[in-house]
Amino acid sequence: MSWIDPDFPRTATPSDLVGRVLGLNPGMMTGPGTNTYLVGRRHPVLIDTGAGVEGYPALLDGYLKSRGVDRPARVLLTHRHVDHLGGVAHLRERYAGLPVAKMIHRDAGLPDGIDDLREGQPIEGDGVTLVPIHTPGHASDHLCYYLVEEKALFSGDVILSGSTSVIPSGDGDLADYMASLRRLQGLDIRRIYSAHGPVIEDGPGKIEEYIAHRLARERQILEALGDGLRTIPDMVARIYADVSPKLHKMAGNSVESHLKKLARDGRVREHVEANAPSRWELVG
Ligand SMILES: [Zn+2]
Repeated sequence: MSWIDPDFPRTATPSDLVGRVLGLNPGMMTGPGTNTYLVGRRHPVLIDTGAGVEGYPALLDGYLKSRGVDRPARVLLTHRHVDHLGGVAHLRERYAGLPVAKMIHRDAGLPDGIDDLREGQPIEGDGVTLVPIHTPGHASDHLCYYLVEEKALFSGDVILSGSTSVIPSGDGDLADYMASLRRLQGLDIRRIYSAHGPVIEDGPGKIEEYIAHRLARERQILEALGDGLRTIPDMVARIYADVSPKLHKMAGNSVESHLKKLARDGRVREHVEANAPSRWELVG
């Protein structure tokens, strides 16, 4: 996939208040790698920690020193996925006593000593205020962080630049995800700093595009059902005809998340089959 950009800069300073250091974990799911952000000038807050790649702490430290900064003041995590919290252990080795917080929700097996953080508990940094916003859908524990001084959003994996967000079948929920997007749409957001890929300058446009994309997909699925297609593989073969078959399993997960949402809305029904894919039909 083209969004794995080998020339993506390893460090950048997208604004006066925001620095960016790459987690050095490129891949199909992470694009150029996970972005970690330093917010505030002298005692910056670090948002996310990458996957735990060996070279990351030195890269972060070098970037901090180049800006005359000793260490991050604290770490805030967007969610529990390993490409966001995997770097916590290494960072704690380098920066003794470094506080780490996330929204603790349905978590098992978190590293010790992570503080709980909730929506409605703004974090004050050096000249910056970060407001956590609970945005479930990609992950049930997901927080975005709104930077008041820039009217900017650290969107984690809710909004990505260059790809659509994945709704994992266990902990993900498309109905929650759509509600999260609509909530973000109601905020005064200019820029978006996403966890993967470059800065999104037109935040509202991107949120609108994400909502439209999901609604278009939902319409395609309803049409396929209306035309008598019954199983997810059949629907994927039609809707993703122009996408490499290697990606059809992922596409199947996406169609399934739509069908589950439609079932919750009372618009489709699932018939579970023994040893075969479920058969789906429109209700009414
Ligand atoms: Zn994630």
